[in-house]
Parts: sequence; structure tokens; C-alpha cells
Amino acid sequence: TEERSLNFIEQIIEEDLGNGMSQDKLRFRFPPEPNGYLHIGHASSICLNFGLGLRYNAPVNLRFDDTNPAKEEQEFVDAIKKDVEWLGYEWAEERYASDYFQELYDWTVEFIKSGKAYVDSQSSEDIAKQKGTPSQPGTDSPFRSRSVEENLDLFERMKNGEFPEGSHVLRAKIDMASSNMLMRDPIMYRILHKHHHRTGNNWFIYPMYDWAHGESDYIEQVSHSFCTLEFAMHRELYDWFLDQVYDEGKTRPKQREFARRNLSHTVVSKRKLLQLVQEGHVTGWNDPRMSTISGLRRRGYTAASIRNFADTIGIAKRQNLIDVSLLEFCVREDLNKTAPRVMAVLDPVKLVITNYPEGKEEWLDAENNPEDESAGFRQIPFSRELFIEQEDFMENANNKYFRLTLGKEVRLKNAYIIKGESVIKDTDGNIIEIHCTYDEDTRSGSGSEASHRKVKGTLHWVSIPHAVKAEVRIYDRLFTHENPDGDKDVDFKEYINPKSLEVITGYLEPGLKSAEAGERYQFQRLGYFCVDTDSNAEKLVFNKTVGLRDTWAK
Ligand code: ATP
Ligand code: MG
Ligand code: MG
Repeated sequence: TEERSLNFIEQIIEEDLGNGMSQDKLRFRFPPEPNGYLHIGHASSICLNFGLGLRYNAPVNLRFDDTNPAKEEQEFVDAIKKDVEWLGYEWAEERYASDYFQELYDWTVEFIKSGKAYVDSQSSEDIAKQKGTPSQPGTDSPFRSRSVEENLDLFERMKNGEFPEGSHVLRAKIDMASSNMLMRDPIMYRILHKHHHRTGNNWFIYPMYDWAHGESDYIEQVSHSFCTLEFAMHRELYDWFLDQVYDEGKTRPKQREFARRNLSHTVVSKRKLLQLVQEGHVTGWNDPRMSTISGLRRRGYTAASIRNFADTIGIAKRQNLIDVSLLEFCVREDLNKTAPRVMAVLDPVKLVITNYPEGKEEWLDAENNPEDESAGFRQIPFSRELFIEQEDFMENANNKYFRLTLGKEVRLKNAYIIKGESVIKDTDGNIIEIHCTYDEDTRSGSGSEASHRKVKGTLHWVSIPHAVKAEVRIYDRLFTHENPDGDKDVDFKEYINPKSLEVITGYLEPGLKSAEAGERYQFQRLGYFCVDTDSNAEKLVFNKTVGLRDTWAK
């Protein structure tokens, strides 16, 4: 790995090590809530935590923060595991906050016994009204002085499912006048009569994030717990809860915050991505237009390109919008090194080589990847009738046009030099055939003097009788606005690009007939494409991953 200066997170760790913390106490976690699929923002957090694990040779747990049964599902757990693995990381242990429900409950009983928690039986509206404002202290709940016995009894009955949702909550008794609103007797438990994807119907009360998260870190002996900036104010509460349960000699987890990463022309919020799925704006969480890891994978992104993207943007203390063209740059750079080159024509016009014998076919050598010698050569068929791209021919062109025109020569990639002779048009004046002649001494790689002759343009092509058809899905940005959820007064869905998907038929060299889902190619002169999961023996389907150059007009 390249030398770079330490980011502020690494500096925090180095400082702790410098102050006597032993390196073998370092332990990290990536803590997704299984309420959706992971997105490109999560990739930053994954690369941060697992990257630290590799750097310091420390374990990293995959911890599911599954404290809200209303929104969490096994499907999301499975998808998250798959994505983290695919990104190339190995977790030390798979953990769940729900594994700790009993331990959290037992601690809470101790809180009640020592007067640090109470059951509040007011409505959530009344509790909110009593919170006060940052400049004004809150008002005590009338239930704040309940006896320990009554609290213990009520809390146990909450747990046993004796009360309806919303009838009671359990609150920590901290400070109703704290300047930090989160310290004004925060809720630790609410009643939920919901089926949990792991604990089933065992629990009728569920811990709140603030109570469960830090304690889960502590139970796992996580040394550094990194979260996004919106939790900065929660740190005081994180520490207060830890103070109550901390035993001397154990590792005391430290919460530190970094900036959430946002990507232009998309949304990175599971809640919003879920809306796109549920309302049918996309075909699913793994739609190739989505900012999800699974969508990017299906689109043809490599794991290395996503890791490289996360590394390049690094870790920041302030939030900003990262341009999606940087992500595209990263995948282009990776695929340039690894993707085999093939020829495909996506907007065909027929070209006939009039002096090439009818019925003849030749198999020509084509280099698989000029960036990788070990990739070798393949053979592709050539014949009298070919497809080229419509935009590679112009009937009347000026001297700056280096593609095919009448009376001038171009090279057909891996094949011969041809010269435009005439066109055939339909009754509306559209060109339906281009007639050319070829120079049979100019075959690429034949070694003849004529084969070294230089002409200005080189075109890709496919042989019509040999070509295989494929459905090709061309994507544009899912949102027309750079920051679709940047304006609180406008629904982000207003900015959905109605032309984010174009489906066309392409003609490919025949070797691609057996291409399998997930395989990535460069269609020469067109871009990078990968075989979609919808593809099968009857029907090939390709996704355009990204063009060869950043041609998108801002
Ligand atoms: P979302 O709003 O999409 O649900 P979240 O933060 O609620 O995001 P979690 O499942 O709780 O999602 O996230 C797991 C970890 O990933 C957390 O530590 C969180 O801070 C981090 N994370 C989530 N989104 C981003 C982002 N856009 N940039 C960096 N880190 C992120
Ligand atoms: Mg969330
Ligand atoms: Mg969260």
C-alpha cells in the first residue's frame, strides 16, 4: 500500500497506543442495522473499520444493530453479509445486539434498584412537552419519583407483554436540566409487540439505540467505536451508560465520529432507497442504477474499485458531496487493467465489402487485452457483410472526420483496410447499406508491408452472419439533480431521471454467446459492460457499467 499521512481516526488510535494502550486490545466493529441493503456510504464505514483491522492486525466484528423489529428482516442480514464478504473483508465474529437483550435487561434491573431508571407512564407527546428547550430546563415527569418496587414490578410486566404499546417506557434518570437534551432522562426501552427476526416473540420490550449500542461495544470489548457525525451529541450519553456498567480492568470503548459520505446524483439513505424499491421506481435493491453495493456489483463495479474509491475519498470531519464521476473513474481504472476487450455494435448499419468473396469466412487473431500480455489472443470471424456503428459513417464529411466516408480509407480493427465506395438508401433517404472495397494485403498482424500502412481511423465491427444478439441496458444517472435530497422542501423523488434506463439490442462477436452473469468486458470504443443476472442461454443481457471516458455533460 502507498505511503500516506495518517487520517484523524488513525491519529486517535496512535495516540492511545502512545499513551500505553496495548495493541492487542484494539478491536473494531462494523454495526449495520439490518433494515435495508448496504449502500456506497456504508462502504466508507466498512473500509474504515476493516481497514483498521488489517492495519493493526486487530479483530473486527460484524455486529447487527437489530433493536427495531418493526423494520428489520433476515433478508437484509443475508444481503449485508454477502456485501461485506464481496468487498473482500472477513469479520472476526458475527454478532447481534439482540444476543445481548437479556444482559441489557439485567443491567437495567440494577439501574432501577439503584434509582437510575424509572417507568414513565405518560404519552410520548407529554414526555416530549416536558423536555424543555436547549436554553430552558425540562420538567420532571410525575412518575420520576416512583418507588423502586413499583418500577421493578412495572418493568417486569412490560417485559412480559402485559401492557399495550405506548403505555409505558423505561427512562434513565439523569438530568432534566442538562444542556444536552439527550441527557434529559432518555428513553431506554419501549414496548413493541412485534416479531423479531431472531428472538421471535420472546420480547415485548426493545432497547433504544443509545442504550444498546455502547453496551454492545462494551460486551464485545470494542476499543474504538466509529460512527457518523450526527451521533456526536450522543457521545455524552454513550459515556454515561458505560460509567454505570464499567468494570475496572476491562477495555472501555471510545466513541468517535466521522463525516457521513454522500454521493452526487443519488441518495444514500436506506429509508429513501427503500422508497424507490417499494414505489417501483427501480426493479429492486440491486437495480444497477441504485447506490447500493449490490446494485453497483450488478452494474459491473468491482470490489477493488469500491475499496479504492473509499480510500481515495478517505475519512473527513466535515460532510460534503462526493462527485459520482470519481466513483466512475475508479471502476474505469480497474476495468482497464482487467477487462477483456471484445467487439460489439450497438447502433448498427450494414456494410458490404463488394470485392470480398461471397460465402467466405476467415478467423482473425484479436488481442484480448493490450494492458495485460498474459491475456493472450482469441479468434474472431470476418466475412463479406458486417455491422458497424451508424455514427462511424458519414456520407459527406470534411477533412477532420477520421471515420468512414466515401472515397477514403479506414482500418477495421484486427482486420483489413477498407475504402467507402457507395451507399444504398431507402425511399426516405436513410442509409441502409454502405458498400466498400477492401485491400486484401492489409490484414492486421500478417506482417506484410501493406499491413503496416497507416490510416487515420480504426473502427470496430462484427460479422453479420456470426454475430450474437444481446439485450443491452444503458443507464444514466438515477437523479437529474446533483443533490436530490439536499432541499428539505422538495421531495427527492421529484428529481428522478425519467430516462435513466435505455434498452437496446446489440450485436456481439460470437465468442460472447456463452458469457456468464457477472463477467465484465470492454466493448471496444464503447465502454465497459457486464453480463446481467437476467442473462441466460436463450437471451444474453448486458449492463453498461461505465463509458470509456467521462463524457457526461454537467
Ligand atoms: P441509513 O440512513 O442509510 O440507514 P445508517 O447510519 O442508519 O444509514 P447503519 O446501518 O446504522 O445505517 O450504518 C452502519 C454504519 O455505517 C454506521 O456506523 C454508520 O455510521 C455508517 N454509515 C451509514 N451511512 C454512511 C455514510 N453515508 N457514510 C459513511 N458511513 C455511513
Ligand atoms: Mg438508519
Ligand atoms: Mg444507524
